[in-house]
Amino acid sequence: MPKIKSVYAREILDSRGNPTIETTVWSDNGRGAVASIPSGASIGRLEAFELRDGDPHRFDGLGVLKACANVNQLISKYVVGLDPLRQNDIDQILLNLDGTENKSKLGANAILSVSQACFELGASCAEIPTFEYTAQKYGFATPSPLHLPNPIFNLINGGKHGAGNLDFQEFHCIPSSRKSFSQSLEMASELYHLLKKTLIEKKATSSVGDEGGYAPNLVSNTDAIELLVETIESSPYKLNEDVYLGLDIAATSLYRSNKYKISDIKDPLTGSQFADFLIDLNRKYSLLSIEDPFDQDAWEDWESLTAGLGKQLMIVGDDLLVTNLSRLQEAIKRSACNAILVKPNQIGTISETVSVIKLAKANNFSVIVSHRSGDTDEDFLADFAVGVEADFVKFGAPGRGERVAKYNRLLFIQEYLESLHPTQ
Ligand code: PEP
Ligand code: MG
Repeated sequence: MPKIKSVYAREILDSRGNPTIETTVWSDNGRGAVASIPSGASIGRLEAFELRDGDPHRFDGLGVLKACANVNQLISKYVVGLDPLRQNDIDQILLNLDGTENKSKLGANAILSVSQACFELGASCAEIPTFEYTAQKYGFATPSPLHLPNPIFNLINGGKHGAGNLDFQEFHCIPSSRKSFSQSLEMASELYHLLKKTLIEKKATSSVGDEGGYAPNLVSNTDAIELLVETIESSPYKLNEDVYLGLDIAATSLYRSNKYKISDIKDPLTGSQFADFLIDLNRKYSLLSIEDPFDQDAWEDWESLTAGLGKQLMIVGDDLLVTNLSRLQEAIKRSACNAILVKPNQIGTISETVSVIKLAKANNFSVIVSHRSGDTDEDFLADFAVGVEADFVKFGAPGRGERVAKYNRLLFIQEYLESLHPTQ
C-alpha cells in the first residue's frame, strides 16, 4: 500500500494574473501529483469559501499565503501517511479538520488543492489515466470514444468577464453531439477565427475577455447573438444542425432591486418580464441551453421557466446550485432546472463533487463540468469529466492556454480511447 510522503502548497498566478494555490503531493513509492485551483468572478452566494489573505500590501489583498500555510502547517500533518487511493477517507479528514459548513476555516481553495492532488496521486499509484481511475473508483461506465462529453465553447464574453455593453456573461456555440470531439474542436476554432474577422469588419474590436471569447463593443446582447448567427451562416456549418447556441446569463450579476437591467431594453424587467424576453429569444434562436437565467434566490422564476421550456432546452443551475448537494436536492424537489454546472471549487472536495454528480444523474439532470473564469493550465477537469460521464464540458473559448490545455487533453483522451477501441 503506497503512503503519502509529503504535501506542499505554494502560491502561483492564475490566468487573470491573480494568486492561486498549487499543491504538490508525493508518495513513498516515488510518485508525485500537482493540483492548482481556479477562481470565479461571478461567484454564487453559497459557494465554499475561497481563502484570500486580505493583505493590501500584497496582490491587492488577493494573496493566498494563508491558504498555503494551512496546507503546509496543518493539513499536511494529517494527510502524510495516508493511502492516496483512499480518496473518501482523505476528503473526510479534510472536512473534519475544517469543521465549518462552507470550509471557511481552512479555505476551500486549500482543501481542494489537497483533495485533487491526492486524487491524481491515487491515479498515478493505480497506474491508470485519471479519467479511467475516476470511472473505476466511483463506478461510472468505462470511458468510450463514442461517449465523450460534448463541448460548450464560449465565443463572446460579457458581464463580469468582458467589457462594454454586454450584460449576459457568455455566448456559446455548442457543436452537435453527432460530431466527434475533435470535429467539434475544429469547428469551434474555425468559427472563433471567422467571428474575429466579422468583429474587425464591424469595427467592434477583437480583444478577448477572461475566458478567451471576444469582448466586443456592441449595443446589446441580441446583437451578440446575431453576430454568432451571422458567423455561423458565413461558415460551412448549419445553425441548429451542426452547431447550436447557448447562453450563460449569470443573472445574479444583473439583478438589482428585484429587477433585471439589460442593454436590449430601456426599463428594468421583473422576473416574469425577463422570462418572456428569454422565451422570445428561444423562439427566435432555438437555444440549446440557458444557464443562470434568474437570480440565485429567485426560485419561483426558475420553476416557471423550467415548466415552460424545460422539455425544449437545458436550464442550467450554476450560481443557483453551487455544486452543493442540498441546493441540488431543493432544485430537484421544486423542478427548478434540468441541468447542473459542476465546478469542484464551488464545493471543495473531489468526493463531494462526485456525490453531487451522482444525485444529478439519478434525477436525469444533464451534467456540465466547468472551468472557472480565472483558471490555470490544469487539465484535470478533462479527465474528471470523461470519468464521471459528464454530458458536456464548458472550458471557455478554443483559445488561450488555460482553456486549450483542457480541450487538448480531451483530444488526447479521444485518440487514446480510439486506439483501444479501433472499431468504435
Ligand atoms: C460561470 O459563471 O459559468 C463561470 C465559469 O464563471 P465564473 O468562474 O466567473 O463563475
Ligand atoms: Mg455560470
